[in-house]
Amino acid sequence: MVNAISIDVEDWFCVYNLESIINKSEWGKYEYRADRNIIKILDLFQKYGVKGTFFILGWIADKSPDIIKEIENRGHEIGLHSYLHPLITKSSPDEFTKDVEKGLNAIIKTGIKQDIIGFRAPSFSLTKKTMWALDILRSFNIKYDSSVFPVGFHPDYGIIDAPLSPYSISDNMIEFPMTVAKVFGRRIPCSGGGYFRFYPYWITKKLLKNVNRDKRPAVFYLHPWEIDPGQPRVDLPMFKKFRHYNNLHKTEIRLEKLLKDFKFTTIKNILGF
Ligand SMILES: [Zn+2]
Repeated sequence: MVNAISIDVEDWFCVYNLESIINKSEWGKYEYRADRNIIKILDLFQKYGVKGTFFILGWIADKSPDIIKEIENRGHEIGLHSYLHPLITKSSPDEFTKDVEKGLNAIIKTGIKQDIIGFRAPSFSLTKKTMWALDILRSFNIKYDSSVFPVGFHPDYGIIDAPLSPYSISDNMIEFPMTVAKVFGRRIPCSGGGYFRFYPYWITKKLLKNVNRDKRPAVFYLHPWEIDPGQPRVDLPMFKKFRHYNNLHKTEIRLEKLLKDFKFTTIKNILGF
């Protein structure tokens, strides 16, 4: 079975988990490390013949237009991850519309040739309360979303009873929900990111095999900063610190194992666009 792989293209200081410490208006003051981490991922994908979906933050596109074009030149899909990483749950429809428009314009301005049809919400903030965002995305010709986390335990995101396979979430909009395995009737996230860094690799592998055995394609996600143990450290409360810095030095090795053990392609391919 072929799965989807996606990269949420942002730098270490763009993360919601750091928002209480780092003000968005000051992103430009921090050490910019996205380019080299993106190239590392592109090289790894190339080594294993993998094509993936790169959800781009418009702010990064403004900063690194050549890198965005390089992603396209190497055959990958380009999607949108907003402009300034606002959670939809904390935005008004008007604010969301403006951010999406700004993000799309920044990415288009880099000169890429493909149409952008996919969206990933910052911090998976498409929830039951923010379904209004889908109409806005459709008005910008977005055809699929991959932001719903079908779990109920997380304080910031999740739709507890969402389907586990790609489904039609509203008129002319497909949802590819983040991947969870079903173990003894419970939904266990195994989609990537912090979960990938937290579990030993063999657990992720077992859970993803379990998903594929259920005849479901998985969608995996990672951020460029997650393979960068050399990133600057900021002083965070204990739980946030763990969430951001846990096992950064192991992620690149694990990613390489994952690319050997599973087949991956773009989300667009899996959904048949
Ligand atoms: Zn993000």
